[in-house]
This record gives sequence, C-alpha cells and structure tokens, in this order.
Amino acid sequence: MRLETLLVHSGGETDEGTGAVAPPLHLSTTFEHGPAGEMPRGYQYARTENPTQDRLETALAAVEGGERGFFFASGMAAGAAVLQTLPRGSHVLFPDDAYHGFQELIHDFLPRWDCSATAVDFSDLDAVQGALRPETRLLWAETPSNPLLKITDLAAVAEIARGAGALMLVDSTFAPPVIQRPLELGTDIVLHSATKYFGGHSDVVGGALVLRRRKPLEEVLTSVRTTLGAVASPFNAWLVLRGLRSLACRVERHCSNALAIAEALAEHPAVERVHYPGLAGHPGHLVARRQMRAYGGMLSLRIRGGPSQSGREAALAVAGRLKLFVNATSLGGVESLVEHRASIEGAESTTPQNLLRLSIGLEHPDDLIADFRQALEGA
Ligand SMILES: *Cc1c(COP(=O)(O)O)cnc(C)c1O
Repeated sequence: MRLETLLVHSGGETDEGTGAVAPPLHLSTTFEHGPAGEMPRGYQYARTENPTQDRLETALAAVEGGERGFFFASGMAAGAAVLQTLPRGSHVLFPDDAYHGFQELIHDFLPRWDCSATAVDFSDLDAVQGALRPETRLLWAETPSNPLLKITDLAAVAEIARGAGALMLVDSTFAPPVIQRPLELGTDIVLHSATKYFGGHSDVVGGALVLRRRKPLEEVLTSVRTTLGAVASPFNAWLVLRGLRSLACRVERHCSNALAIAEALAEHPAVERVHYPGLAGHPGHLVARRQMRAYGGMLSLRIRGGPSQSGREAALAVAGRLKLFVNATSLGGVESLVEHRASIEGAESTTPQNLLRLSIGLEHPDDLIADFRQALEGA
C-alpha cells in the first residue's frame, strides 16, 4: 500500500468488542491476569505497554517502513533513550547545529554516562569521516536542520556509518515521512518530535523512534523506556495516531505554502536571505531534490538592518508587526508561527541575530504573504 493509505489505516482495526471505527482510548493502567498468572491478551501494566500505544507504534513502523516503532513522552525522551542504550566509553557524532535541546542533552548528560561527542557539519562528508574514532558508535544527523535548514546527504552518511560499524540516527522532525523516508536511504533509526507535524495541531507532546531492523536496539530500548519510565499517556498516543490520519494532506499544503512564501519573500528588498531547501540557490538544494519529495513547511529569513536599526532590531520589529503569524516557539501545527530563535536559545546561541524562523501553517498562502509584506514594509 502507498503511504497515504497506510497513514489512514495503520493501527486502525475496528474495535472487536464494540465495532467502533475510531480507535478506543484505553486509560486502564492494569490488565487482568489469567488464573495461572498468564497475560491472555499480552498486557499487564501500562508503563510497559498498552493497547493505544500499540496501535500508534504499529502505524509509526508502517509509515516509516521500519520493523519497530516506539512512542515516548516527548521527542527529547525518544532521543535520550537512544543515547542511554550506548555502552560506556562510546563516542557520538552530532551536527554542529543540532536541535538546541539535544545540544544541551549531549553537553550536560553524555559525560555523566561516560560517553563523549564531537560536533561536526554533516553537510561536509569529509568532516564527518574525519571525526570518526574507533569508539564511535552513533552518527546523529538532523535534516533539514534547525534553524538554518541545512541538508545532510542521508545515503552518504549512512554509508560512512556502516563503514565505521556505527549506527545512524536521523532527527527527521522537519521532514515527516510524506516527504522524506530516511530508513529507505540506509538510516538505522529515525526520530520525530511527534509534538510537531505528527500531532499537527499544537496540542500534544510526544516523540517517536522507528528502527529499520529490530536488532540490535529493540530490546534495550524497550528496557530503557520501561525502566526509566519515559512513557507517554495513552491519550497522547491517541492524539498522535489521530494526527497521522491527515498527515499526508497537511504536509502537502505546508510544503506548497512554504515554497510560495519563500519565493515571494526572497525577492523582497527588506529580506537579506531566505533559508529554504526548495530554492535553487540553497547550498543543499540538489541533495534535497534527490532525497525529499517536497521541501517542508519550515523556513528562516534574515532581515536586513538599516542605518538606524541593527538586523536584530529589524527582525524583532518585523515579528512584532505580523498579525497572522503568532509569535511563539514550536512548529508543525495548522497555524503559522514566527520566532526570533536567537532570543529563545539564549546567550550562547550562534544563530544569526537577524534571523526569524517561520513554521508555515495551513492558511491561504496569499494571506500569509500579504501579512509579511505589511510587516516588512512597516519598517
Ligand atoms: C521539537 C524538536 C525536538 C524535541 O521534541 P519535543 O517533543 O519538544 O521533546 C527535537 N528535534 C527537533 C528538530 C525539534 O524541532
């Protein structure tokens, strides 16, 4: 079956007991044993597994084309679980512009777990190869990246990982399976913040991992989740499963809107630069064209400063004049958002001060372009 069909139907069997077409939401934390203590339906206690989470995990594996899906309480919990499977002494390569939360996780926690990491530019394959060490166990990529929308060549990095006997993970949050299928390109693990496009309505926090093969991580990841307890509530699993049903339609519209806005604003005199992999001038455009079906709903803009205003001031002023775009963090919801990333990342941020990150929603593109024009021209 094609992806659009899998998204609608996976994990969606009609409920046997009632005939309910929408999946039932099971909040029970505990499940009845048989007379000899056996578990006749496979369930015992909801932290280990539960029927709503099982439905979602079946769907996650199907839509990514992997053997095993895992749902976690957040994208961060999903990523932390992978790092917690590493043996002591392991070394990890991760992108120099990785999602801010993962940079903190790697910096603050990996040393406590007796592991080390090196940050590299994953768009530079020689740099990736050169940073490998005998103890490198994991290559952690993110594409498109946040907030500069840099592109990593997934097939090439997967080959480097294989050659080094390491696993490769991709944080594909910016590119849901409708437009990017990392497991088909040789990646071992795909990670999503389900809080973003999977949920799609800015109303649920969750994280997903899908393994291309059950081995070697299925067992140890199950144990990390059960024992450390980063499980999601069944209601959150239910909301994410519901989000998957409309993912293909939503993502198509997010992408076509973002491309229209990128093209319209790239020409604007108040815009210094647009970072969007769908534009021919983007340094990762050719790789993106090869490995993505469309270029996603995220883009960043650099606003031009002037004689009386720094780029940072100009960017903040534009964000303040937007009427339709809500000034808020996060992404992937139906509504368009704008955010000054350097402010949210704090003092150590290396993000350009004149950069605004946009999450393009499902509004009509002309309304979004008109809103941006009035905000740029109010300057
Ligand atoms: C939001 C995000 C995360 C973290 O996910 P949470 O669900 O907020 O824990 C990880 N990676 C990327 C690229 C993100 O945008």
